[in-house]
Amino acid sequence: MSEFTGLKALVTGGASGIGRATAALLAERGAQVAVLDLDPTQVPEPLRAWRADVTDDASVRAAVQEAAGALGGLDILVNNAGVGAQGTVEDNTDDEWRHVFDVNVLGMVRTARACLPHLRRSAHAAIVNTCSVAATAGLPQRALYSATKGAVYSLTLAMAADHVREGIRVTCVNPGTVDTPWIGRLLGAAPDPAAERAALEARQPTGRLVSAAEVAAAIAYLASPLAGATTGTALAVDGGMQGLRPRPA
Ligand code: NAD
Repeated sequence: MSEFTGLKALVTGGASGIGRATAALLAERGAQVAVLDLDPTQVPEPLRAWRADVTDDASVRAAVQEAAGALGGLDILVNNAGVGAQGTVEDNTDDEWRHVFDVNVLGMVRTARACLPHLRRSAHAAIVNTCSVAATAGLPQRALYSATKGAVYSLTLAMAADHVREGIRVTCVNPGTVDTPWIGRLLGAAPDPAAERAALEARQPTGRLVSAAEVAAAIAYLASPLAGATTGTALAVDGGMQGLRPRPA
């Protein structure tokens, strides 16, 4: 028996990186887990996966219905699917702004809307949104991405207020730079990947990137009944990026 025995969880963006580590950890700890992803082909057993595009409301509603039906309900939503964007406000087009907001913010709204009727029937309902240190830290070259995560942070607080009396907790994790395929792609596109990696590592007071497993552990805590008194707040998993200034020698 573990804290997740009998609980059913849905993880968006669960085919890769933080979502994949979270889905695997929840399953290892006894939850039944459904993954929703644009490309669910790489999702390992015993996770069950459904294809869904969080920018498409009909696709989200259909996948959530099917997953909740297959699992026999839903207790936990890990709202994690997201995409990155680099640059200042002069670098991204209006279409890029619309698309990244569509995935990172509206995607979480659509998925929450589809899951809420199921979560209301749970005795241990929790939503955990994957936010970012970018929501509050003022990172250079991340204007669009940071704005989406600022919105996710505010959405987390507002949803926590709206649903607290229904017994649904809403929290978020604020990771720093996490070693996932996403960061692999970013480094791959850099003129000097080793120098870029060193710069990302140096930006974090711990001097290293965060692992996906470390973020998954924080999400699992927030999603678990052990966090029953925790709602409307963010847990930083950022190597001290937000709290420690300047980096200790
Ligand atoms: P990743 O690229 O490894 O995984 C993202 C997953 O989301 C992929 O499986 C992808 O297919 C899925 N996805 C993307 N768009 C989708 C859509 N429209 N519909 C359904 N699924 C979609 O990335 P990651 O690093 O694991 O990031 C996961 C989350 O963590 C994101 O919300 C990201 O903003 C956040 N985050 C990441 C970092 C980091 O440094 N990696 C830091 C802070 C926050």
